[in-house]
Amino acid sequence: MPALPRPEKRVSISLPPRRAQIAAETDVLVVGGGPAGLGAALGAANAGARVVLTERYGFLGGNATAALVMPLMSFHTQRPRREKTGAATLLPTDHGPGEPVLAGVVATLLERLVTAGGAISPSLKTGYVVPFDPEVFKLVAMELLDEAGVHYLFHALATDVVESDPVKAVVFETKSGPVVIRAQAVVDCTGDGDIASRAGAPYEIGRGDDRLVQPMTLMFRITEFDRAAFSEYVKKHPDQWRGVHGLWDLIRKATAEGKLQLPREDVLFFATPHEREVSVNTTRVTRVLGIDVWDLCYAEWESRRQMRQIAAFLRDYVPGFENAFVVQSGVNVGVRETRRIVGDYQLTAEDILQARKFPDVIARSTYPIDIHNPEGAGTTLKRVPPGEAYDIPLRSLLPQKVEGLLVAGRCISGSHEAHSSYRVMAVCMATGHAAGVCAALAVRHGRSPRAVPATEVQNELARQGANLRGIR
Ligand SMILES: Cc1cc2nc3c(=O)[nH]c(=O)nc-3n(C[C@H](O)[C@H](O)[C@H](O)COP(=O)(O)OP(=O)(O)OC[C@H]3O[C@@H](n4cnc5c(N)ncnc54)[C@H](O)[C@@H]3O)c2cc1C
Repeated sequence: MPALPRPEKRVSISLPPRRAQIAAETDVLVVGGGPAGLGAALGAANAGARVVLTERYGFLGGNATAALVMPLMSFHTQRPRREKTGAATLLPTDHGPGEPVLAGVVATLLERLVTAGGAISPSLKTGYVVPFDPEVFKLVAMELLDEAGVHYLFHALATDVVESDPVKAVVFETKSGPVVIRAQAVVDCTGDGDIASRAGAPYEIGRGDDRLVQPMTLMFRITEFDRAAFSEYVKKHPDQWRGVHGLWDLIRKATAEGKLQLPREDVLFFATPHEREVSVNTTRVTRVLGIDVWDLCYAEWESRRQMRQIAAFLRDYVPGFENAFVVQSGVNVGVRETRRIVGDYQLTAEDILQARKFPDVIARSTYPIDIHNPEGAGTTLKRVPPGEAYDIPLRSLLPQKVEGLLVAGRCISGSHEAHSSYRVMAVCMATGHAAGVCAALAVRHGRSPRAVPATEVQNELARQGANLRGIR
């Protein structure tokens, strides 16, 4: 592989000091335009703050668009698991009728996506996931920010914090040189906790013993898929397809014939709003870290190697895919897990599996613990009790040792197991919503986010339509 190898020795040089242009002074700065960043920007703006959102790419959505993670996973309560095979819908079938446990900005986004013809509403038929079109997502996200009066700066990679106690100024690298944005409160929605870690917040990475994280996956869209022919195959081979994954016998055959060398034991793909399309979540790159440039470079190469094999396998072995081809792959390999910022409370697996409630609840989730094996094949799923949801407390968004800053999305405070549950996009958007509201309230009263009473955040979230178990 021609990628630049990791240097054997750490040799460094000093960089000359430089000056940066002040690009803006604002109330709330949101760094990162993924699901959490969207929620944070809308929450803060709707609470009356002046908001700037910054993003390293030229569009919004984070993994939802850049990494082509195209279904929102369920945020509905579940009934006891019903084993059912042979489903032709390409969607999970093991959820009974469920109640949504999130509303607010998540509901607004959903409604707008569906109205724009870019998503399928969650229902029993979809297994309560929401297949959506990432191009429609990009447009709807931008419209929502426009309507809320949020200013955004794209093509700006946050690299440093200059006024850090409390956090008040973030440095961005841009094509126009370095720029700084000053704010009264900052929300880190980078997924990786880039800002919190630069500001000195403690963090953890990976599972306890070996610090391995969940694998990376390059997602891709396949079109010219013949759904009727595939459904026919599934009907004839009900043991070979469960909900959204399977094809075990065909994979074994292709592997034996030297056509596949994959870490994953099955093929996983999801329906999209388009009849002749599926989105494939099957590449798996293990033992790599999304905050290590050498690992990322290797993962881009390795996941594309796997994508080519998977696409050829589908075409050559699987009925319904004879004429199918890859129409788009992610802008980057999808990164599931990096830093988990240590906050005033760390969510645990027990909190999730016991559907624990907290007085400072700011979001809720029903999604299971879902760990793609950091070492290779297999996925661990452990469900929230039927009909239940767990609470996410405001304290999990407040990094230790840092003032003026909140975290939201997948980098909030929790264990490796807990992270595998709250990392799904609707939940990230909801924690973003709460972080944005808390930041705006902090600015309104000249306090640090940590000093804002949880009840005030809950009241404002409720005013903005959030669903907090009817406690407000
Ligand atoms: C392969 C894969 C499959 C998944 N499947 C599902 C699924 O089916 N359904 C589901 O709901 N969830 C799924 N997830 C999880 C989900 O996509 C993520 O956990 C979620 O998107 C995290 O949201 P976020 O806003 O915290 O971070 P992200 O979505 O990662 O967004 C972070 C944003 O910040 C920007 N950014 C990062 N660093 C900087 C910086 N330094 N400066 C400026 N901008 C920066 C990024 O460009 C990005 O736009 C999957 C994840 C992966 C990787």
